[in-house]
Amino acid sequence: MTEALHHSGDVEGPTSGHAFAIPMRTRFRGTTTRHGLLVRGAAGWGEFSPFPEYPPRECSRWWAACWEAAEVGWPEPLRSRVPVNVTVPAVPPEQAARIVAQSGCATAKVKVAEPGQPEQADRERIAAVREALGADGNIRVDANGAWDVDTAVRMLGVLDRYRLEYVEQPCATLEELAQVRRRVRVPVAADESIRRAEDPLRVRAAGAADIVVLKAQPLGGVRAALRVAERCDLPVVVSSAVETSVGLAAGVALAAALPKLPYACGLGTLDLLETDVCAQPLRVVAGHVEVRRPEVDRQLLAGVEVDPQEWLLRARQAAVAGGGDAVEDGR
Ligand SMILES: [Mg+2]
Repeated sequence: MTEALHHSGDVEGPTSGHAFAIPMRTRFRGTTTRHGLLVRGAAGWGEFSPFPEYPPRECSRWWAACWEAAEVGWPEPLRSRVPVNVTVPAVPPEQAARIVAQSGCATAKVKVAEPGQPEQADRERIAAVREALGADGNIRVDANGAWDVDTAVRMLGVLDRYRLEYVEQPCATLEELAQVRRRVRVPVAADESIRRAEDPLRVRAAGAADIVVLKAQPLGGVRAALRVAERCDLPVVVSSAVETSVGLAAGVALAAALPKLPYACGLGTLDLLETDVCAQPLRVVAGHVEVRRPEVDRQLLAGVEVDPQEWLLRARQAAVAGGGDAVEDGR
């Protein structure tokens, strides 16, 4: 790995690639279009799709992930399919029940603490999801850091009547997560608290979580994320960064290579995009995503392709910014 990353392709960045702009079914991070770059290398297709506001330094890990996918490939999978959760947005109870029933998933991740909504809305949504899932299903809630400590403790007391698997990012900071964790029975997962490779270790040191949510692209690829998981030594839930099937395949490869996978993953996100670039996309079938690398379909790609110049520049800046980083990570 270390040697592979010395390859000049990683330091220089790509000279050719295909930029895409794909409409999204719902607003995500303040936008309704997902943008990124797809490159083809010796090992297959890679996706580089950091969010618009990320500077080159931060993008360098996203580029390392893309480069690993395109030029190196991934470790051998330990499983052939990965269980995934259905995600239930902050919608009314009837709609929440319908989303869960139609998904075929045994695990539901339910958004709570939506600004402007009364607490009663969360309780009713969770009740409807429990009803739709049945007694054997798993319900996790995601507050995206929106609660303060007391509200989190109180709300988790209320919502745990419907039996919660865990709560994702109940509060914004590590200190708050640690406080919540000491006061509730429900396990705590850290998501937004983890953006860089060193963050999971901070989470662990702060006693802030029982579970870490890891994403392949922001951590610098499948191998880098596996090393983070190993050093952190907490159960991992692999999540996507809302990618095409090309980027999603890296998350699936990560989930497939983890020695233990006790929870369903957040990799059933392809339907958030209006369309995909692969003819056999990584969709959810019977609550699982298959472990495989789908090929890009040139015709589907052509349908969403935009001028790549801006993205090639962004990828080259990311590659240069991370030139030394990737090597350091490999030690
Ligand atoms: Mg989350």
